[in-house]
Amino acid sequence: MKKIVILGAGYAGLQTAHKLQKKVKGKAQIILVDKDDYHYETTELHEVASGTQPALKITYPIADIVDPEVTTFIQDEVVKLDAPKKQVQLKQHETLDYDYCVLALGFVSETFGIKGARENALEMTNIKQSLAIYDHIMACMKKYQETKDKRYLRLVICGAGFTGIELAGALAEGRPEYAKAAGVSEDEVKITVVEAATRLLPMFSEKLADYGVKLVESLGVELLCGAKISEVTPEAVIYEKDDQSHELEAKTIIWTTGVSGSPVVAASDLQERRGRVVVTDNLTDPNDDDLYILGDVAAVMDKESGRPYPTTAQIATVMANYAAKDLESRLNGQGHVKDPFVYKSKGTVASVGNTHGFGVVGNLELKGYPASVVKKMIMNKSLYEIGGMKELMAKGRFDLYH
Ligand code: NAD
Repeated sequence: MKKIVILGAGYAGLQTAHKLQKKVKGKAQIILVDKDDYHYETTELHEVASGTQPALKITYPIADIVDPEVTTFIQDEVVKLDAPKKQVQLKQHETLDYDYCVLALGFVSETFGIKGARENALEMTNIKQSLAIYDHIMACMKKYQETKDKRYLRLVICGAGFTGIELAGALAEGRPEYAKAAGVSEDEVKITVVEAATRLLPMFSEKLADYGVKLVESLGVELLCGAKISEVTPEAVIYEKDDQSHELEAKTIIWTTGVSGSPVVAASDLQERRGRVVVTDNLTDPNDDDLYILGDVAAVMDKESGRPYPTTAQIATVMANYAAKDLESRLNGQGHVKDPFVYKSKGTVASVGNTHGFGVVGNLELKGYPASVVKKMIMNKSLYEIGGMKELMAKGRFDLYH
């Protein structure tokens, strides 16, 4: 019996396990490894960080997906992969041997070596970090009551990519709760986003990006564009704007300037850049046909633009479906599937709070409330695809009509 090891139970890893275990009963054994015993919706972490949704709403147990007849789940941290030896080193458990490996360990925050960022800013790449952000904000609000130091009332987001913009919307929605805890009026709680670029959200038309910017600003969020962060201290963000250095004092500083693939990729001597490996047309490592690399640790080249596709939950799930089919074909002795992996994005939608958003679906630009409905439908689809009816019913967003 062949042994397939899947590393990571995010969108890519869990979907691969979910699809594969139905097809390989009796032919293969699957071992799924993750450091947590739950899956979380990375796309909604900002809601937990802002306190607008409880962590339970965006998580579910990995055990709900695992079919114990085929799949064994191991809760542990992956240290490194030894691809030539076909072995995975884990922190607590014995080394795993495999015939095929699916590397899907997700992303970490990218600080680009900016001084003090790792030490002094809060990151938002998993549930624990998101909960820590919310606790930190609420602690600052209480601290304001004792000290009357206005720096406790300022929340700074570093980077206005999709993550920063969605977080800004969620923090604006959480602001009444923060203000109440601090005993101040809502407009005294300041939310500022510091962004190096002058043209935000370059994946959208200028008109749609402008709409997004105005939408966020209409919620009382200050957007500082053309402001390149050069340092983060425990109590301030230092940025360069118009050839001058500025200091923005705040007790809550959240880092969202981009992501890189899991550090396990570099530790495993794979050919990588920022923790991502440029994969083959079958989503395998160019030096190892038995190693699939999926999701945020993979760079899939878009042949039209000559650049890798952005890493999203959507592409991770499509990659997982392909890898599961390809593995099934190989287990049946038929070699790789005939067609190479191709990807066509269905679109991208950013939520701004619970009832607003903006984005593109197909050729259609969406704004405001309809965009927020589409974002919820996308999340519901993802919940259903991986978690089935049980998770959709428990965690789905059905507050579509207001
Ligand atoms: P990103 O790389 O897309 O955006 C980071 C932003 O930080 C950029 O605007 C960049 O100019 C800015 N920045 C970088 N260094 C800076 C500095 N020193 N000072 C000031 N600003 C700086 O990262 P992200 O927003 O975390 O997104 C990561 C990936 O996840 C992207 O591919 C994104 O599309 C995807 N994503 C998608 C969704 C969605 O579909 N709803 C939501 C979140 C993220």
